[in-house]
Amino acid sequence: MVKSEILDELKKYREMDLKYEDGKIFGSMCSNVFPITKKIVEMFLETNLGDPGLFKGTKLLEEKAIKLIGELLNNKNPYGHIVSGGTEANLMVLRCIKNMCKERNEKPIIVLPVTAHFSFEKGRDMMDLNYIYAPIKKDLTVDEKFVKDAVEDYNASAIVGIAGTTEFGTVDNIEELSKIAKDNECYIHVDAAFGGFVIPFLKKKYKFDFSLGVDSITIDPHKMALCPIPAGGIVFKNIGYKKYLITEAPYLTETAQATILGTRVGYGAACTYAILKYYKDKIREIVNVCMENSYYLYKKLKENGFDVIKPTLNIVNILDDDYINTYNKLKEKGYYLSICKNLKALRIVVMPHVKKEHIDALIEVLKEIS
Ligand code: PLP
Repeated sequence: MVKSEILDELKKYREMDLKYEDGKIFGSMCSNVFPITKKIVEMFLETNLGDPGLFKGTKLLEEKAIKLIGELLNNKNPYGHIVSGGTEANLMVLRCIKNMCKERNEKPIIVLPVTAHFSFEKGRDMMDLNYIYAPIKKDLTVDEKFVKDAVEDYNASAIVGIAGTTEFGTVDNIEELSKIAKDNECYIHVDAAFGGFVIPFLKKKYKFDFSLGVDSITIDPHKMALCPIPAGGIVFKNIGYKKYLITEAPYLTETAQATILGTRVGYGAACTYAILKYYKDKIREIVNVCMENSYYLYKKLKENGFDVIKPTLNIVNILDDDYINTYNKLKEKGYYLSICKNLKALRIVVMPHVKKEHIDALIEVLKEIS
């Protein structure tokens, strides 16, 4: 086959995919990337952070990216990695907790909200961890009183709080959870995979970062920082946590590896560095537009008689007893929303590709269906 034939064939397949700009994707946490990142991807396409001794410049960029994320999260001495996503970030944290417990001869018991992302279930399955799921309150944030009792009663080793839940975009009371962790000398992880690049740019302030003394934070550049996939972020309070993560890697240029993936491309680190260094104000602007559009959607839905939850971040939920049916009908019409687990509700993520005209069109379809 000649090159043009191969590319034409691939193009046909690519054309079967939905495109963010078509305005039909309402359930994804990814979006169109910053245009400059396409050049960066090309430049770093053949890099491998799994063998950092060969890619010293890219490794330095990863360290600088982590430093910039640290600054955003009030941590002057962060240790971490740009990984494949929130799943890998959370798995690394679970591995850290598991190995810490092993060192202390403790059974790993973790208290986490029912709203925790399903990556935690993957971790439980792989690492034989013990979970106590804490319910959520009326405001859809974790019940801190339950967490406190569970930590004390079961002598738990770790707490997980969510800053920007996948389903509702709600922010757990991390300040209170941190106090519980401190009082009981247990580990606290904050999953801010989605909220990490939203919350610091909001007018309303939420405390969720290292200023509270938390041990680790998941924060994904490939979500609201508009970096290309794969770019997840895991940041620990300091380098001290590394010993719980490393595996010997004798035949590589660096003989210890902390990430779950081995061979891993370096463009996520390069893109994260470039975006945080040169486009931070642009993220702020984008977050503000997404929030404005979320309120626009909320208001319009209310005006049209839908039962809607007021958004905390750029996620809007429509309460609907028949939510699965509505979701399927929307899909038939080419509109891709998603559904919640903890409420009978639809979930709309108002990412930067979701414009007001797309919202208007969605509301018309919703009206038609209902
Ligand atoms: N944590 C939270 C709070 C999320 O919302 C998500 C994804 O939606 C993840 C973790 C997993 O991220 P990824 O899909 O990048 O692995």
